[in-house]
This record gives sequence, C-alpha cells and structure tokens, in this order.
Amino acid sequence: MSTRVVIDHRTGGASKLRHPEKAHRPDNPIARKPEWIRVKAPGHPVYHETRALMRDNNLVTVCEEAACPNIGECWSQRHATMMIMGEICTRACAFCNVSTGMPLPLDDDEPTRVAEAVAKLGLRHVVITSVDRDDLADGGARHFARVIGAIRAMSPDTTIEILTPDFLRKPKALEVVVDARPDVFNHNLETVPRLYPTIRPGARYYQSLRLLDRVKQLDPSIFTKSGLMLGLGEEKMELAQVMDDLRVAEVDFITMGQYLQPTVKHAAVARFVTPAEFEDYGTMARVKGFLQVSSSPLTRSSYHADSDFAELRATRNKRLEEAR
Ligand code: SF4
Repeated sequence: MSTRVVIDHRTGGASKLRHPEKAHRPDNPIARKPEWIRVKAPGHPVYHETRALMRDNNLVTVCEEAACPNIGECWSQRHATMMIMGEICTRACAFCNVSTGMPLPLDDDEPTRVAEAVAKLGLRHVVITSVDRDDLADGGARHFARVIGAIRAMSPDTTIEILTPDFLRKPKALEVVVDARPDVFNHNLETVPRLYPTIRPGARYYQSLRLLDRVKQLDPSIFTKSGLMLGLGEEKMELAQVMDDLRVAEVDFITMGQYLQPTVKHAAVARFVTPAEFEDYGTMARVKGFLQVSSSPLTRSSYHADSDFAELRATRNKRLEEAR
C-alpha cells in the first residue's frame, strides 16, 4: 500500500491533518477483512433522518468519528452515540480515529442541544461519550453532569449511559459525574495492560480500573460497564486476568469486539478473532460472574446498548429477588 496522509475531509479543510502526531509513522498496511466482518452500506430512510438531525443540531457522533462499522444498522434504528466537548481529543491512542490536537473551548449550549436531540429521537436509552479533555481542570466532568441534567429535565424516562475518559490527574472529577447519577457508567479498558504503552500510551491501566471500582464504591446502584478490543495481540490468559480485575472492581457488563484499523497510520490488526472464539470469551466472562456480556466481532461499547440495558436491569432485579 502506498503512503497515505490522513486528512480531515469532514471539515472541508484541504490540508488539515486529522492525526498530525501519526503522520511521521511508517504505514501499516490494512489487512483484508474476513467475510464475518462485512456490513451493509447505509441506505435506510431512517438512517438519513438520524444523520440530518445530528447535522441540524450541530452534534458530533462517535459513530462517524470512529468510522463505526455498525452505523447503517444503528442509525436506521435512531441509535446514535453523541460525542460531547468537541471533536478534537487531547490523547493520541494508536487505535482511535478521532482527531488529535488542541480542543476548542466548551460550548455552553451543548447540553441543551444534546437533550433536544434525545427528545426528538424519542430515545428510551441514550449513550453519551466524549473526547479526552486533559486541557480542562476537571477533565470535562461538570460538562458531563450538565448534559445528564439537561437530558433528565427534558426526557425523564430516558435512561442515560455515559462512556467517559479516565479523568487521569483530575482530582474529584469522578465524584461530580457520579453525583449526576447516570444509569450506566461505562469506561473502556480497551486492551490488556501489556499493550498500554503502544495502544493507549497516554492512559494507565490501573487508573482506568480504579475509576470503575470507585464508581461502585461511590454509588452501588449505578451499573458499571467496560469494553475491550480484541485482535491487537493479546493472549487468552491476559484477557482472563483483565476479566478477573474487572470482576474484583464489581463491573457488571463487559463488551468485547474486533479491533479494526481505521487508517494506515493506526495500529495494525494482529489477527481477526473468529466468531467461535468470541463465543468462548463470552462464556468465559459469564462464568466469571458478569451480569451482562456482549462478545462478537462487531460488538462495540454502544452497540445494542438499549436492549442490553433492559436485560442488565432485569438480571440484577432477578438476582436481588433471589437473594431475599
Ligand atoms: S455501535 Fe455505537 S458507535 Fe457504532 S454506530 Fe452503533 S451507536 Fe454508533
């Protein structure tokens, strides 16, 4: 494959580099996807409605930013994961397609616009994520809390799932978010600790794990959730250990999906994990006691989040009943 410079086409910038920090890296050829990864091109009328609503409300989605393969399916069912606090991230993870750089100041109206979009879409369950904002004193915690508050005020019956950054070196930030009482607190470990220096160099495995643990300590009624990308070179034993770590932190829900390489400047896929192996990992996770498990090549943190949340809540209620 020839050398390709990664340019941000969405902004119309003919010369704006989407990943300037990755431009000097040698190319990693993109491996051909196996047939079990293929997805249909988006074309459903509701897909276009969802897209128009996001544009009209000037909202950013991780579905587009991360070039998610499920966008055709999700947006056809009005499931979109909104990404708050801008579209520029202060980290530069080797797997992620979100632009890196110095973000713009926070938009004060964003919580209202997000809440209006949730109301217009008529969502029962919404997933809100964000870029990393290491530039802000609280890492964006207060903004997350404002978004949760605005959605609650406009759509009191909608359950809210947040997928947050790690709030590394942001004392008391987590408490602010937990006080806003999301229904699900999701933070992805992404990969096994051995691969952090190359895949998630700006993050620390134990910080992420501690964050999830602390959410449960602060408010045990909040469901906690975490996700892993497979196919980055992790070993089965390492995955088993990460699952054990998550269970010690009392994490309720684990998601596992295949890592897909966004561009030649990103980490290469070490291998495509087969659907049967995903099944085995799912079984392993259930045996380890997670309340909910989603494990398949196309699983993403927010994929089927709506129905998964309903199941998660029902399972917990059943267990509480049985324990009485
Ligand atoms: S899986 Fe999540 S990120 Fe991907 S399209 Fe669906 S809602 Fe968006």
